[in-house]
Amino acid sequence: MSETRICESPGCKAESKLQCPTCVKLGINGSYFCTQDCFKSNWKTHKVLHKLVQGKDESSSASQDSSGPHNPWPFFKFSGKLRPYQLSGTRTVPAHIPRPDYADHFKGIPVSEQKEKNSHQIKVLNDEEIEEMRVACKLGREVLDEAAKTLDIGVTTDEVDRVVHEACIERNCYPSPLNYYQFPKSCCTSINEVICHGIPDRRPLQEGDICNVDVTVYHRGFHGDLNETFFIGNVSDSAKKLVNVTWECLKKSMDAVKPGEKYREIGNVIQKHAQANNFSVVRSYCGHGINQLFHTAPSVPHYAKNKAIGIMKPGHCFTIEPMISEGSWRDEMWPDNWTAVTIDGMLSAQFEHTLLVTDDGVEVLTERPGNPLPHFLSP
Ligand SMILES: [Zn+2]
Ligand SMILES: [Zn+2]
Repeated sequence: MSETRICESPGCKAESKLQCPTCVKLGINGSYFCTQDCFKSNWKTHKVLHKLVQGKDESSSASQDSSGPHNPWPFFKFSGKLRPYQLSGTRTVPAHIPRPDYADHFKGIPVSEQKEKNSHQIKVLNDEEIEEMRVACKLGREVLDEAAKTLDIGVTTDEVDRVVHEACIERNCYPSPLNYYQFPKSCCTSINEVICHGIPDRRPLQEGDICNVDVTVYHRGFHGDLNETFFIGNVSDSAKKLVNVTWECLKKSMDAVKPGEKYREIGNVIQKHAQANNFSVVRSYCGHGINQLFHTAPSVPHYAKNKAIGIMKPGHCFTIEPMISEGSWRDEMWPDNWTAVTIDGMLSAQFEHTLLVTDDGVEVLTERPGNPLPHFLSP
């Protein structure tokens, strides 16, 4: 992002490039200062923000209610009605559970992934690796099903995150999102106009919300990734239609997966169905190869006429995860540098599965045993 930032110090309007390191760590990436001196002179006021985000009130005064929304970015114009709430403290994973490299990197950098960053080579998994993927994806499915049981009116997304985190640990899994490029929580919860990468916080879910929960687990060296969009109480007919069509987009695109098919074909299938229903396809976020790496080749765009590289072969593992929007396909980001929202504040929905290309088609590794339908279709 290259827009001009203005210094946070009251009265100072200087252009600023220095970011508060504590804010970066806490996932509030909006705090910029022009100089070290300006930062220091404003420290007493500024540090209160850290406490608020960590959910530890500076004082016991009633004005510091930790349950309400808070706006750490007074100059940011939100595209829709959703607002950030405070985050709870960082959750930890017991040392006996194997961790991906970025879990302990001070900036959350996945070094192993970055080594392959410019390669379009798609890994063909051997039989043992495929078996490990099956196990990781099955466990990821169980974790998402635990989250599904928790979702309800009045439940915070932070509570959903706690359930996901603990369900991972019970299954000897590391929750893959935690500390990935410093993502602060163990899953993504994306409500209403949030397209993806919403950060679980203390906002209670409201009747009529649609909420996507995206779970990835890391088990014995392999990642399994899936997400579903859920209805919170009664939702509008227009929201129901969007969520239905989004699921159908994933379903139709999965039916196209077979050896010899081009990865770029997936987007044609998805956009055709979305467009036929007057919805749009988000372009900034793609499906991805997944194995010992969380995100790797191939990149799988969900829009038509894309230039994705590669042809499906038995032993390839990748995700399809279309994000379908009611209005514009364009996205923008909150200043937390994670939450992607529609630019018009209209709804966006998503479904995701991890897939294995087999000798004659596809195996949906994250499918629910005994029921291939998402929860919203079989509550
Ligand atoms: Zn995912
Ligand atoms: Zn994914």
